[in-house]
Amino acid sequence: MQVELSRLTADSVALVGVPSDENSSFMRGPALAPGRIREALHCGAANLTTERGVDLGTNGRWHDVGDMELGTGEAAFDDITAQMGILLAQGGKVLTLGGDHAITYPIIRAYAARYPRLTIVQFDAHPDLYDELDGNGRSHACPFARIMENGLAQRLVQIGIRTMNAHQRAQAERFGVEVIEAWQVGWETAVSLAFDTPVYLSLDMDVLDPAFAPGVSHHEPGGLTTRQLFHLIQNLSADLVGADLVELNPHRDLVGMTAMVAAKCTKELLARLLG
Ligand code: MN
Ligand code: MN
Repeated sequence: MQVELSRLTADSVALVGVPSDENSSFMRGPALAPGRIREALHCGAANLTTERGVDLGTNGRWHDVGDMELGTGEAAFDDITAQMGILLAQGGKVLTLGGDHAITYPIIRAYAARYPRLTIVQFDAHPDLYDELDGNGRSHACPFARIMENGLAQRLVQIGIRTMNAHQRAQAERFGVEVIEAWQVGWETAVSLAFDTPVYLSLDMDVLDPAFAPGVSHHEPGGLTTRQLFHLIQNLSADLVGADLVELNPHRDLVGMTAMVAAKCTKELLARLLG
């Protein structure tokens, strides 16, 4: 990280990249995403004002601190937890640009130390609750199993799921996961959820239908529209303390359109985190 920690304060939001895809089960690529999202964010094809009027171009409370520097394997997870801990120690909030979804477990290890009663809202086509996949417990198919079995979140709400199999359904029941499958998502979903603890939002880009976001490793038809996703981000009545955006795979993107979707999600998430 080229972290200028002195710029981070209790009311600021740090934007950090985690270029890691070594735990992707199907194909690599998400490690390239943080740079592509930054390019899209500043590309000049769009302005930096969010839909509800927050001008991120003039708002001085968010700071891009660059990318984390990572080892490999278990050491990479320890690096993520340690560097996230350093950012959180400044007292503000963090928006992380992945990377694949494996990074959410080491991120939450740092968040749980600061927020013992954390709720996680996960937007995803996949439950990511496998006990292990291909012999890898750090797989991007496993982060929420690790989080829940280690008691790092009080509550996990999954939205947009459309790949639930028998093993993961058993895991969801074991951990008390609240699952709102893609076919159940409606305009009322955002306000139907009530949260009485701090909320961390984890956004896997494949929650969107591949028609809206083709630049992901796992194309899963039947997903949300970008409009539905923005509606959910904007209207969740939650005290948002952090977020991540993961699984953009530039190798699968078409003319950078998914990077642009990710950049807009980044803007809307920043606005929510800035409060
Ligand atoms: Mn995922
Ligand atoms: Mn997914």
